[in-house]
This record gives sequence, C-alpha cells and structure tokens, in this order.
Amino acid sequence: MSTISQQVVAAGPAILHSAQTLDHTLRDASPAHVIETALKTVGREQLALVSSFGTESAALLKVMADVDPAIPVIFLDTGWLFEETLAYRDTLIAALGLRDVRSIKPLAEALSRQDPDRELWFSDPDACCRIRKVEPLARALKPFSAWINGRKRFQGGARAEIPVVEDDGNKLKFNPFANVSREEIEAIYELAKLPPHPLVASGYLSVGCMPCSSRTAPDEDARAGRWRGRPKTECGIHTTKTS
Ligand code: SF4
Repeated sequence: MSTISQQVVAAGPAILHSAQTLDHTLRDASPAHVIETALKTVGREQLALVSSFGTESAALLKVMADVDPAIPVIFLDTGWLFEETLAYRDTLIAALGLRDVRSIKPLAEALSRQDPDRELWFSDPDACCRIRKVEPLARALKPFSAWINGRKRFQGGARAEIPVVEDDGNKLKFNPFANVSREEIEAIYELAKLPPHPLVASGYLSVGCMPCSSRTAPDEDARAGRWRGRPKTECGIHTTKTS
C-alpha cells in the first residue's frame, strides 16, 4: 500500500484520496502541526505558502517561520497594491526571518493586451483578478505539489465550510487556520508582538488591491470592505483550481 507522500508524488486521482485522509487526520490539529505535516508529506522543495501580507497574514507567517522560515512564500504583487502592503512585506521578512519570499507580478503582455488603461478592475473585476492574481498564482505554483494559505472558517461566505486539507487539481491545499478563531489569531499577534499592517490604524480590517478595498464600519464583517457594492467576494485564487 502506498504512503500519502507517494500518492502525492504520483498525483492524479490519488490526490483526492490523500487530501481526504490528511483532512481526517488533521481535523483538530494545531496550525503548526498542519504545516509540519505538509512539510513531511511533500518536502520543502514541493511546498509553498501563499500570503497577501494583509491584515491577518503575520499570524500564519509567524507559525510557518517557527516551523521552517525557508518554506517558499508566494506574494502576488498585482500592480494595484498599497505602498503600505509592500512595506509591510519587507517589515515581516525582516521581523520573522523569512528566507524565500517570491513577489510574483502579472505578465506584462496580459496587462497591455487586456488592461491597457488600468480600468479593468472597474469594468470587469473577475477578468482583472484573473490576469493579476489567478493566472500568476497558477504559474507560480507550477513547481509545487502542495500549498498553504490562511483562510479561516470564521470569515464566513464561501470560507465557512473549508476543510483543513483539500485537493486542488493535482496539488494538496492546506488550510492550517481553518479551525482557528479571531481571538486565537489576535493572541498570536500579541504573544509574538507582531507588527500590525499599517492600514489597520486607519480603519482597514481587510486589505487587498487599492481600488477594491475600503474601510469597514464597526458593525461590519472584516471582508465587507472588499469589492464594496459588488456581488464579488473572492478574487478567484481559492475558487479556481491551480492545476
Ligand atoms: S482585487 Fe481589484 S484591482 Fe486587484 S486584481 Fe482583483 S479586480 Fe483587479
């Protein structure tokens, strides 16, 4: 009988079985244990963490850095990010000793062909997210057989039911914070004295691209400020299989 790591390397339909088995095993595991298991399952060469360096990102990056700060971190630099987010990326790289952060940009050819006037975010945000986030992430993840991300069930919407491990085409997708509460995230910040994202102080509870992020009122969900006034709630990197 093959091990889970052999199944992952073999890829294909075995991934689904591997994801279900791992999800069952890790259902109540701590975030650190989920990341350790991901490392053991596929090895560091095959594992990447995807981070937006947003308002809650430092917590997952801290847990990862405590396990292994050399795990590659993929950061999608869409061309529409706040300067504060780019500065925060550099702050966290230094503070946590992250050794392999890869800033990925959209293809220049795709931008000049599909968004020459930089107005696609307004006329067709799904297409904008596709060329600036979904396609670049799919390219960046090609060398890897598993990835880690920071979604939590408490964020609600499409995230309310996420498993701890799922299959993403022929990759494994680990969600170490699936079970974690907002209070636990805050406790990680407090305990490790993690610096907040610079825009939190001015009322942003969730930060993405500049045209598609707004401040939230005290009675709103954290993600209410994203794509405000539109039905869109996800950029597509978690609703489109990467491979
Ligand atoms: S979040 Fe907005 S600006 Fe960023 S890629 Fe998506 S539509 Fe474009």
